[in-house]
Amino acid sequence: MTTPSEAEPPRDCPICPRLVAYRAENRARNPGWWNGPAPSWGDPDARLLVVGLAPGRTGANRTGRPFTGDHAGVLLYETLLKSGFAQGAYDARPDDGLALIDCMITNAVRCAPPANKPLPQEEAACRPFLAARIAALPRLRAIVTLGEVSRRNVLRALGARASAARSGHGQTVDVGGIRLFSSYHCSRLNTNTGRLTPAMFEAVFAAVRAHLDAAASDRDDEAACAGTRARA
Ligand code: SF4
Repeated sequence: MTTPSEAEPPRDCPICPRLVAYRAENRARNPGWWNGPAPSWGDPDARLLVVGLAPGRTGANRTGRPFTGDHAGVLLYETLLKSGFAQGAYDARPDDGLALIDCMITNAVRCAPPANKPLPQEEAACRPFLAARIAALPRLRAIVTLGEVSRRNVLRALGARASAARSGHGQTVDVGGIRLFSSYHCSRLNTNTGRLTPAMFEAVFAAVRAHLDAAASDRDDEAACAGTRARA
């Protein structure tokens, strides 16, 4: 089992020179911002992991909590609240009191990239942290990937080929006992153009909920059978 510390890069991770330079530039301009790898956030016993692309410059790079403070977080947290994976109220601040339930959020690339576009070598460099994050969740049964960068990095982090699953919103594939649910990213571009609607996004999390409920029911049935056999 991977330890959580292997799953989280240090605040001054030096591995990607371009992103380190961008971090330094942001730190010089806005010293009160987080300006570091955005840590994963949520329940360490979660059965659901949501994987985004990378911190937004004025979102998690500013606040230090994934999807907090920029446009993408509004739909994500509204949807998590509706589907029972969060409680409280989202107010775009790390101290808003929001809590995730049975859910954790992370990013495929932990540092904010210029123009929200990480380079392939930056995806590869950060992937060990993603793989360790996944491995450190002992009850993990479902991953929602937000966008293509997330989808291909999650597949590779699980030891599968990026072509192992069809791309596109609503696609699913099982890899090593974990079901991947692909979603379009809840970015401003996708939501403003109607490529991703709230209903489409909610349907993904409803499918996750149904999958987790079915998995729990199967385990209850197995436990009941084992109990019956033990008493026989
Ligand atoms: S993107 Fe990942 S590997 Fe690259 S510097 Fe940031 S934390 Fe380190």
